[in-house]
Amino acid sequence: IAVLGLAAFIPIIITPPLAFLSLNTMRYLSQTLHSVGQQVRFDPMTGVYSRHYFLEITRMQLEEGGAFLMIDADHFKRINDTYGHATGDEALKRLAQALRAAGKPTSLIGRLGGEEFGMFIPKGRLTDADTAAIRISAAVSNLCHTIAGHEIFLTASVGAAVHMPGMPLEELLRLADERLYRAKRAGRNRAVLSETPPAAPDFSGVELWDETATSAAA
Ligand code: GH3
Ligand code: MG
Ligand code: MG
Repeated sequence: IAVLGLAAFIPIIITPPLAFLSLNTMRYLSQTLHSVGQQVRFDPMTGVYSRHYFLEITRMQLEEGGAFLMIDADHFKRINDTYGHATGDEALKRLAQALRAAGKPTSLIGRLGGEEFGMFIPKGRLTDADTAAIRISAAVSNLCHTIAGHEIFLTASVGAAVHMPGMPLEELLRLADERLYRAKRAGRNRAVLSETPPAAPDFSGVELWDETATSAAA
């Protein structure tokens, strides 16, 4: 009977420490899961969304439309070659900061890879892409002129595309990338937002001062 009585006490004695242990394990597991989740969602160096997560959350909002901007640092290789990789990293952090400063609070910003970033403006149209491109250029020139003590005057080129109903994300990216390439070809530090190149100015019907007539009349 004494033995049986003792046996009845055993669960009462060991349950609290076991429960405590498993609670701690669960807390540890949930913290680990959270931190892995953060690492998957964010680019550790620049703090903007990682490529995969950025593209997935962009895809989820695509049905409601929006504008996509692809942003690539100009002549970035030169920065690494001239000032070293650590300064290059600083420049990328600053570029990401400039993008955050330029975007709307609802804009999604991600690092697509290397020195290339993306911005998605949910429900954005061409005018929103235009405004964002101007703001990006202003923010980059305000924030990226001096990096790690070096006068670098970093610039970026932008290619943008507006989502059309039914367009897959891949096609939106392809259009933005193609226009980014055109912005590079056209001399960098600029944005190309649409297929049609800017129309040549129409001079017909513009009357110019006839200087000879003016000087003759004087
Ligand atoms: P372009 O104006 O045509 O874009 O010229 P670019 O030099 O910026 O482009 P290119 O693709 O030739 O070089 C990109 C460079 O970016 C090369 C690569 O070493 C550098 N880079 C990519 N990722 C990182 C990074 O995380 N840190 C640093 N410091 N450099 C990076
Ligand atoms: Mg580049
Ligand atoms: Mg690039």
